[in-house]
Amino acid sequence: MTVASSSSLVGRLAPSPTGALHLGNARTFLLAWLSVRSRGGTLLLRLEDIDGPRIKAGAAQQTIDDLRWLGLDWDGEVVVQSERLLRYQAAAAQLVAGGHAYPCVCTRSEIDAAASAPHEAGDDGPVYPGTCRGRFADLAVAKVATGRDAALRFRVDVDAVPFVDGFAGPQAGKVRGDFVVQKRDGGPAYQLAVVVDDAAQGVTEVVRAADLLPSTPRQLLVYRALGLTPPTFVHVPLVVGADGLRLAKRHGDTSLRHFRERGVRAEQVVGYLAYLCGLRPRGGPCLPRDLLGGFSWSALAKGPVRGDDHALLG
Ligand code: GLU
Repeated sequence: MTVASSSSLVGRLAPSPTGALHLGNARTFLLAWLSVRSRGGTLLLRLEDIDGPRIKAGAAQQTIDDLRWLGLDWDGEVVVQSERLLRYQAAAAQLVAGGHAYPCVCTRSEIDAAASAPHEAGDDGPVYPGTCRGRFADLAVAKVATGRDAALRFRVDVDAVPFVDGFAGPQAGKVRGDFVVQKRDGGPAYQLAVVVDDAAQGVTEVVRAADLLPSTPRQLLVYRALGLTPPTFVHVPLVVGADGLRLAKRHGDTSLRHFRERGVRAEQVVGYLAYLCGLRPRGGPCLPRDLLGGFSWSALAKGPVRGDDHALLG
């Protein structure tokens, strides 16, 4: 990928404050920061705090502190998703009005029982068999008819939405089954909120981890249905442990808090992250801004990278 200066480039950091930042997401944020800052673009910070039960008290402030500690900065006010619920509801209503979404009263166990297609990698759960398609005109009708609060599902009428990823290259973009855009409690699903916000904030480049690749074709469908222009997607390979699985608690504590409490300096952590990005040899401490000059996506390994040999960090 060429690195040219662009003032119309807008990127974002979009952490979910579900706990302390760890090496895996810190590396993704460093890459998102480098991509935008090396080209003179604008970088926004959005806290994706709509995933109710997974959100931890105090984690939003912790996330902000961790990003600052690493030396990553952003432009403008921090946007907080839980303060934007009306926008998501309006977008969901627009999808229903356009025939792109419909009320669904099915419970998880009903879907499990009715689903025939087996799960595949990237599916959120069993493929929705379409039970509620065409059943209810709107949420109120669904409630009267069944006594249940309904979710809203996006109606998927294609098998795939092929797209070209900025790092991972051409993708088949398979989409399996109608997916939820508004939960039964009226809150937005991630797939809707992320599209509404990226579009409203004028985001032109989304850098995120490869575990979200399967979500992208769904999001592209939502962009299309709402008449919005999608950003460029850049999915970076995961940081994994010795078992090849995404870095997690069982690989040891890789939270930034853990390293900070042991007196590790931010420069050491950034140096290690730079090494994981192929930007620096192992062991050299540095600051994010030291990496701007030499930043290139071509340094990044195409596959998952081992990130569990960070013993030197503490
Ligand atoms: N908030 C999401 C996460 O932390 C990222 C969403 C995105 O980048 O699209 O997993």
